Amino acid sequence: MADVEEIISSELAQVLQKAPNIEGVTLEAAVRNIVRATIRLTGLRTITTCMQFPAQYPQEPIVIELKSKTLPEKVCDKITKICEEESKKWLGQRQVMLMINFVKEFLIENPLCVCSEELLSVKKKLLTSDDTVILKQATSKVVYRITQEQYFMQFVLVVPEEYPLKQVKVELEEHNFPEILKVNFISQAIEIARKCVQPPIKKKPKDPPFEPQPSVLPVVKFLVESIKKFPVMCCPLCKERVFPQNPLEPVTDKRKRMEKLYCGHLFHFGCLYKYVKTPPFTGKICPDCGNAIYHDKFKLSPQLMEARWAHKQARQRELDEVVDFLE
Ligand SMILES: [Zn+2]
Ligand SMILES: [Zn+2]
Repeated sequence: MADVEEIISSELAQVLQKAPNIEGVTLEAAVRNIVRATIRLTGLRTITTCMQFPAQYPQEPIVIELKSKTLPEKVCDKITKICEEESKKWLGQRQVMLMINFVKEFLIENPLCVCSEELLSVKKKLLTSDDTVILKQATSKVVYRITQEQYFMQFVLVVPEEYPLKQVKVELEEHNFPEILKVNFISQAIEIARKCVQPPIKKKPKDPPFEPQPSVLPVVKFLVESIKKFPVMCCPLCKERVFPQNPLEPVTDKRKRMEKLYCGHLFHFGCLYKYVKTPPFTGKICPDCGNAIYHDKFKLSPQLMEARWAHKQARQRELDEVVDFLE
């Protein structure tokens, strides 16, 4: 059997020759005590591998440590464990180049590792057993199907190569929500993602310099919370649910149709109409949040509403008199 030192020095010579030729790999050291190479793909997928030869090398796995300034520590730890498992298959072989190539392939095949902490946090804090999540590493997509009672929405996140400097993309796949809310959710989610990476146009003088923020968690949090919240929301006026129990059941009664106000609360059209069109006409607020009621359908001025109400009351009195007369 060849001497361990001879085996190592011959392997180091091979590493010095081969490693610098691999795209994205910078060999920083290749000496007896340490081999260090940085593997840099696009954006945040940059990792430094530090390897040391154990006493029984190559009959023992090479000792590996991964460091990254861009990937979360937990992610590095997880990849390290995977590398350690893999290296057990390489006993008796030259392991340094195998390891460098393995880490590079891992980064290529797992683009979602840049947001894995966020994805984990979503799973732990936001999802219930009714919800599903599918990671599609090959296309850098995450598919969420979020359910609340009989309602569901399935959306896809596309994590760009430059993440988190560029924001995550949100696409709606399937849903059975009322059309008006669907548009609302997705456009608001896109806006949340945009704000994570684009500085505000009007900067306040005391604000710290803008830095792009990861957008996966804020976007998914908003969507999951909205999908869970709206189907069970009650009308602030009559305290009954606004969504029909069954999504397939059409709302034929106009008074039961839903209206979403600027404050975000859902009302029955009939309840809101009655509330807005009866005095007092000024200072109407949402009973749930105290915000002023504002809706495009009720843009009448208080004076006009006052006049109309008086007119209606007069008509009602006339009608009442007619009824009295007929009795
Ligand atoms: Zn109501
Ligand atoms: Zn409100």
